[in-house]
Amino acid sequence: MAEEGKKSGASPKKFGRGANVCQMCGRKQGLVRRYNIMLCRQCFRENAAKIGFKKMN
Ligand SMILES: [Zn+2]
Repeated sequence: MAEEGKKSGASPKKFGRGANVCQMCGRKQGLVRRYNIMLCRQCFRENAAKIGFKKMN
């Protein structure tokens, strides 16, 4: 496979400061990287409704 977005280490960051942080609050813990959302669980739950995701209890 030729996936260019899986280089560990010095990989190009897509979102500026740290690629693996919540794009809402900048938190690193509890990140939800599914669907390329890049949000922590809290922000994800809040934005899930806005984005159109179902609430996961
Ligand atoms: Zn967040």
